[in-house]
Amino acid sequence: MSAAAAARRILTRLHEVMASRLHAQGKLDHVVDIIAESLNSEVCSIYLLREGMLELFATQGLNAEAVHVTRMAIGEGLVGTIADNVETLNLAEAKAHPDFQYRPETGEEKFHSFAGVPIVYRERAVGVLCVQHVDPRRYEDVEIEALQTTAMVLSELISNNELIDEEEARGLAPADTGPATISGLPLVKGLASGVAVYHQPRITIDQVMAEDIEVERQRVYRAFDKMRDQIDNLSDRAEFGVGGEHEEVLATYKMFAYDEGWSRRINEAIDAGLTAEAAIERVQQRTRMRMREIDDPLLQDRMHDLEDLANRLLRIVSGQLGTAATQGLRGDAILIAKNLGPAELLEYDRRRLKGVILEEGSLTAHVIIVARAMGVPVLGRVRGLRGIVQEGDFVLLDADNGTATARPAQPVIDAFETRFARSRKRQAFYAELRDIEPFTRCGTRIEVMMNAGLRDDISTLPLVGADGIGLFRTEFQFLVSATLPQRERQFRLYRDVLDAAGDKPVIFRTVDIGGDKALPYLRESEFENDENPAMGWRALRLALERGGLLKAQARALLEAAAGRSLYVMFPMVSEPWEFDAAKAVFDDQLAHLRKQKKILPEAIRYGAMLEVPALAEVLDQFLPRVSFLSVGTNDLTQFLFAADRANPKLAERYDWLSPAILRFLKRVALATAGSGVDLGICGEMGGRRLEALALLGLGFRRLSITPVSVGPIKEIVRQIDLRELEKAMQGWLSAPPENMRAAIAEWANERGIETD
Ligand code: PEP
Ligand code: MG
Repeated sequence: MSAAAAARRILTRLHEVMASRLHAQGKLDHVVDIIAESLNSEVCSIYLLREGMLELFATQGLNAEAVHVTRMAIGEGLVGTIADNVETLNLAEAKAHPDFQYRPETGEEKFHSFAGVPIVYRERAVGVLCVQHVDPRRYEDVEIEALQTTAMVLSELISNNELIDEEEARGLAPADTGPATISGLPLVKGLASGVAVYHQPRITIDQVMAEDIEVERQRVYRAFDKMRDQIDNLSDRAEFGVGGEHEEVLATYKMFAYDEGWSRRINEAIDAGLTAEAAIERVQQRTRMRMREIDDPLLQDRMHDLEDLANRLLRIVSGQLGTAATQGLRGDAILIAKNLGPAELLEYDRRRLKGVILEEGSLTAHVIIVARAMGVPVLGRVRGLRGIVQEGDFVLLDADNGTATARPAQPVIDAFETRFARSRKRQAFYAELRDIEPFTRCGTRIEVMMNAGLRDDISTLPLVGADGIGLFRTEFQFLVSATLPQRERQFRLYRDVLDAAGDKPVIFRTVDIGGDKALPYLRESEFENDENPAMGWRALRLALERGGLLKAQARALLEAAAGRSLYVMFPMVSEPWEFDAAKAVFDDQLAHLRKQKKILPEAIRYGAMLEVPALAEVLDQFLPRVSFLSVGTNDLTQFLFAADRANPKLAERYDWLSPAILRFLKRVALATAGSGVDLGICGEMGGRRLEALALLGLGFRRLSITPVSVGPIKEIVRQIDLRELEKAMQGWLSAPPENMRAAIAEWANERGIETD
């Protein structure tokens, strides 16, 4: 008999049992009989999770008295190990395994071989199905597969809520599914609570056994066709089409998508009686197991690609498409994801999205900047996140301290609520600083402006009491649009921003797309050979070549600012001529409007971001051209340290408070002093208290920062004496202390300045 025929026979018998009117315990008793007989095994047992322990629910071959008596903790013995690792074990000699534990009540001493598979429900092992044999032999692949298929059937039984209670499966029960605290890197500080929502929701398989094999076969054929089309189309998309590494990934995807072996194995599983969904999952389980055995890191990497593809196929076949954003958030949510793009984050309902936890992430990645602008706390760099926090878990996110607790106990919730209330009180205190002008103790007025980019940010300006918008990231409008925003749409946004700002200045930065701000509608060819997008064809480089883009933006800005002051800032200027070329585009548009007798801006000031270190070396030539200069420390530090700002592995490696950065900034401050050019900072660095202190000590008098930081930074400004601070900074620069951060913090603490 072929393997498929044997599997089908088992499935048919299981089908009969499942469809019978038997009570759940009766069904389990039958299942163990069927498996023991079909696999010619002396023992077959089912353990299920009850009150956090794996309890023997049914057995054929072990002592009947052990049923509902033998209980193992997760991680205990072979059964507990299988559940803990959610992994299959196949051992010729069970006793030789380091985790083996003997339970006398079961009478299992005479059995040598052992094979067990986890019963998985909602990605969590809720039980174990195992077989044992007197002879020391390894079970064959087809036998293991039969066990795995049976485990899927049992999981369907569980999902029908007959065997273990839903609460337990969802991880709300005590013991192994009790509270779990995770820690990571605080990317956007703040507190939040809500229900865990996966950005890519897990796919639930509702039916394991096929009613009509032909129908399932057709479903899987159609899904394969669709998936292959999607993969072929990926090459037309910017996110995939930038050559190098991406091309390799794409090639691997194509290889898997067209792999005959893969589709054949899925078909065989359908032949054996599984639904299309169960067959895909079944084959995936088998592949996972094989890959683990091979233990080759390169192959493990490929396994991620295959997992991704199998998920895609599952999504198509089950019709469970889209991210959690497209399905809509139903209540206060904490979003769980590996990583996100800024545009993906912006798709979420801001009223319900309370926090984000990522497996990756870094402080200055644009998705984090967007989250900061949205006021959504983010915890990043959490290892194994999706294994610990399950969909539907209640989560307390404490991004101030870099932790989160899933499934917290009531006293923890109460303590969190108290802190939450205190933090709200603090926010209220900062809100009161709204109308207070930030003068230092020695009487110097510091300009505290805010960064913005979203339409909603406009309403924040009066609320936080910033001196204006020191950086308006115009590309955010491009990121949230499905197509390139036309001039008219740009004009409306800029006009509304200027209307809302009233007398306060708004510095519009021309589009900075490319890098980690890829636009799906800019085609692949545009980014050809950009293996290193942050240093590639982005920002002004792109805008100058795509003249139409800058022209449209120039016109929209000039028209929006009719009769008022306009501040224009160019990003990523590396050499002075780039600034000249960009300004020339504005001059042309201005001349055109003048000819048409349109109302022109009352005054136009041009400036540039200083974020490419090369520009700092030619400030003597550059300063006479501009009226202001804004240091973009996000990009500047990535270029100074040659450390990709979006690379999570480098997220904690270099400190803004390093002598290299501080000395560099000091040189810029000195070179600019007395030139008549306004100097400011608009990178994330300026919004952090210790860093802001350092910047003031270096001579910076204008900070443009994330809106939530305006209050805290104003508070700091009011506590310092600049002469004292500058003197201290001079000392730190000439003889850098071993730990600059600690030294500055100590200086602040001695003066009662809060820097956390
Ligand atoms: C910067 O680079 O510091 C900056 C403010 O610009 P962005 O983060 O948008 O690149
Ligand atoms: Mg930048």
